Amino acid sequence: MDYQSIFEGAIDQLKAEKRYRVFADLERIVGRFPHAIWRKDEQAREVVIWCSNDYLGMGQHQSVLGTMVDTALGMGAGAGGTRNISGTNHPLVELEAELADLHGKEAGLVFTSGFVSNEAAISTIARLMPNCLILSDELNHASMIEGIRRSGCEKKLFRHNDVEHLEELLAAAEPGRAKLIVFESVYSMDGDVSPIKEICDLAEKYGALTYIDEVHAVGMYGPRGGGIADREGLMHRIDVIEGTLAKAFGTLGGYITSTKAICDAVRSYAPGFIFTTALPPAIAAAAAASIRHLKRSSTERDMQQRQAQRAKDVLGGAGLPVMPSSTHIVPILVGDPDLCKQASDMLLEMHGIYIQPINYPTVPRGTERLRITPTPFHDDDLIDRLKTALTDVWTRLELPLSGPIDLAALAEEDEPVAHLAVPRSGG
Ligand SMILES: *Cc1c(COP(=O)(O)O)cnc(C)c1O
Repeated sequence: MDYQSIFEGAIDQLKAEKRYRVFADLERIVGRFPHAIWRKDEQAREVVIWCSNDYLGMGQHQSVLGTMVDTALGMGAGAGGTRNISGTNHPLVELEAELADLHGKEAGLVFTSGFVSNEAAISTIARLMPNCLILSDELNHASMIEGIRRSGCEKKLFRHNDVEHLEELLAAAEPGRAKLIVFESVYSMDGDVSPIKEICDLAEKYGALTYIDEVHAVGMYGPRGGGIADREGLMHRIDVIEGTLAKAFGTLGGYITSTKAICDAVRSYAPGFIFTTALPPAIAAAAAASIRHLKRSSTERDMQQRQAQRAKDVLGGAGLPVMPSSTHIVPILVGDPDLCKQASDMLLEMHGIYIQPINYPTVPRGTERLRITPTPFHDDDLIDRLKTALTDVWTRLELPLSGPIDLAALAEEDEPVAHLAVPRSGG
């Protein structure tokens, strides 16, 4: 048996489909974010990162770094065990209290990543409810799909953000049956927002439990950074709020907040929580410092919104096909995997700008794109330089400079529309 050829064949297939991924070797520089050093072929070069999920630059915030260093020096590098076996460090206990407070919930539970929190919490919550039916938005993240799969429960997909379709599915289910609605607040590839209030109304009407992924919103929306549900005054109407510590909070880890009973049940039954070493105390303390800072300060949020809007205006004004987005995410349509990769390579090699290509299966085929995430540190000058670089690449690749995308017009022409999508299966 030639085992190696199996794997080589699998890789060749990705290459043939232009879906083979190459990672950029980067080194971030504290104090100079979003600048970084990029290494290739023994050479090092300075570049500007335009696709970081460290949305507010908190990964280099002085209070976060200071707390991380002090805690590591005081308590060591690792946690020393699972939560059950000596891994429940005091900073983790404090972090969970900080998170419960952020979302106005009774309890919080921290996991080693946002991916693990979705996989462990969704599968366990659904599994513990007898004969549970899961209703899931068709564009939910791979980690949520994994949780749904692992629960072994029946699931029904509703069309993206389509509350009428969700209601049809709820109405068709047995009235007394346990139901769990699983959805996100900000969908990070299109930058659109879900109708949280309408989904909560339906959950009440049909007696369903609600689970929201606020990964791309925590820290960035709401008066204290509790997310879109915080901004809209809806946190109390959602049963489980899930988030990450690795994006706007700039560190690592994931969490849920909910009632004491739900958090305790997940703590007690989820293998993905029980059988893995806890987050190191330094990371837990740094995450808590970041959350605490963003509860008090709206400066970062305001600046991020300003720079995101400015990027949309400047890039759209230059004729670039900016896709409609009501959030901090600025997607630019390419519509072809090979050209998308070429555009990304040209930006990096000719302009020192790093934006990775987003291809299938992360987005539907035909909607391949560059996904830009301006932060408070991408100033007006950097935005202008980005515009110049993108228009140069667009011209070289003979891509259309036809201006911002009008979704309604696209739908009429029967062109690929970002929302008419297959479920994502890769990050
Ligand atoms: C990134 C992401 C996650 C996973 O969070 P990590 O902390 O990076 O593991 C979960 N849900 C969504 C929607 C995400 O984009």
